[in-house]
Amino acid sequence: MTMLQETPPLDGQMMQGALSIPAIMDYAADVHGGARILSATVEGGLHDYSLVDASKRIARLAHALRAMGIGPGDRVATLAWNGYRHFELYYAIAGIGAVCHTINPRLFPEQIAWIVNHAEDRALFFDLTFAPLVDGLAEHLPRRMQRVFLSDEAHRPETCAEDVLAYESLIEGHPDSIDWPDLPETAAAGLCYTSGTTGDPKGALYSHRSTVLHAMSAILGIPQAFGSAKRILPVVPLFHVNAWGLPYACPLSGTDLVFPGPHLDGKSLFDLMETTGTTGAWGVPTVWAGLIEEIRQRGRKPKALEMLLIGGSAVPPAMISALEDFDIRTIHGWGMTEMSPIGTCTRPIAGASREDRIANAIPQGKRLFGLEMKIVGEDGTPQPHDGTAQGELLVRGPAVVNGYFNAPDASKAAFDAEGWFRTGDVARIDSAGRLQIVDRTKDLIKSGGEWISSLDLENLATAHPSVAQAAAIAVPHPKWDERPVLAVVPADKEKGVDEADLLAQMARHLAKWQMPDAVITMDSLPMTATGKISKKDLRSRINVDFGDDT
Ligand code: ADP
Repeated sequence: MTMLQETPPLDGQMMQGALSIPAIMDYAADVHGGARILSATVEGGLHDYSLVDASKRIARLAHALRAMGIGPGDRVATLAWNGYRHFELYYAIAGIGAVCHTINPRLFPEQIAWIVNHAEDRALFFDLTFAPLVDGLAEHLPRRMQRVFLSDEAHRPETCAEDVLAYESLIEGHPDSIDWPDLPETAAAGLCYTSGTTGDPKGALYSHRSTVLHAMSAILGIPQAFGSAKRILPVVPLFHVNAWGLPYACPLSGTDLVFPGPHLDGKSLFDLMETTGTTGAWGVPTVWAGLIEEIRQRGRKPKALEMLLIGGSAVPPAMISALEDFDIRTIHGWGMTEMSPIGTCTRPIAGASREDRIANAIPQGKRLFGLEMKIVGEDGTPQPHDGTAQGELLVRGPAVVNGYFNAPDASKAAFDAEGWFRTGDVARIDSAGRLQIVDRTKDLIKSGGEWISSLDLENLATAHPSVAQAAAIAVPHPKWDERPVLAVVPADKEKGVDEADLLAQMARHLAKWQMPDAVITMDSLPMTATGKISKKDLRSRINVDFGDDT
């Protein structure tokens, strides 16, 4: 885009309605008021209410927050599963101009304490499950921080101090309607820290505007997932990157939400999908392995399930194919915490064959409206979008951060001279606009001056029937600098991995120098707090000594 230098453009004569999160709820309650929100609760049982009922409790909570002294700009933390009270917090906190700071309970307690103090949270709302965690953190939390457990007095955790409030008592008696304040659309509404695989965690501070635009773009990009006949189950947590925007996109489009609570194993997910008539579910690849196992055992899919949106890590082609066996479509998505998070997703091809559908879902798909992408070479020169040239992927758009919260140094390093955000991913883009992630910059393996994609090795390995999960990492080598080593988890623990057959199958697709130098079988792979394979931990566990094998 070129900027007009001299003549200013003529102003349009249109009203300046601010984009806001409470406006989503007001609209949804008015137009899609009957849409349902179902939640598997921590206390047990399924909670079920309409968007109109949700909007009333949100108003009561907003009044209660104000009565607690929470005001514009204050950060309010949550440590909670996917459930209706967490959903209510999203809207009430942002609605009064405060900032909903979701915290990942799977982080180490020291990291949680660091994040809470860095964000200077004024209050903390937590699920019963996390009462012991919050107790343990007590002396590391800001002194005047108010704590609220997400249940009623009857479920007060034994260890909770008296000044810890019960959510239901807190909201009781407040009016169930509210006039939301006029907020500038650029006001902060949400805060999420990246898991910080290197350095301290960094906060992405979302605005009302970025959140609304991201939700609208998601609905435009994946129209087949949304609408009044659809029910979406976010396995992707409300505690990380706004459950990929679903708490906003679903009400906006009249789509029912099914919150799974704490039980995310294959059987629990299958049963919940079956009883609720879930049509689509969203999450990272590692959670779907359990569901596929359950589907195979029962010989059928949950009755209404049509599609899974899978992202956060590359989807192994073998997973797409296993889902196709049971007539479940895969939408592959790519994104980042810093991008609200969805950047690209698979666009279905009408009338495509099974093979074409699988091939179409292997790359990371096409960009959402509003997001621009470029790939650059090592000297920063933009590369052509021809499907062959590869380089670092940079993005910009209204749902991409322009800095990190209170972290000037990290902010400076994250952008190029033109203000594009560096994703840290290496990618190709083809002439049809399809993105193919080659690897994370730091996970690429450089052997004898040539790059090997760890993702390619993993995709080939998981295509072998004896392999359930695979991760390839670089191991230092005296002659080649680095060589690939493959860690695998067997599909059947007793039978193990048929290493010779696995390598023979991989060799059909790889040059000799691209083949892994060692295959290491493990019972499980280390995971990050967001359910991805942690290569950082894997590197520290795997120790292959190539000696002077030159
Ligand atoms: P974390 O969850 O670890 O805090 P993010 O969710 O922001 O961090 O992770 C973003 C990164 O995850 C991307 O930069 C990319 O490397 C990886 N990623 C996300 N989706 C995909 C995908 N579909 N294919 C490959 N890599 C992906």
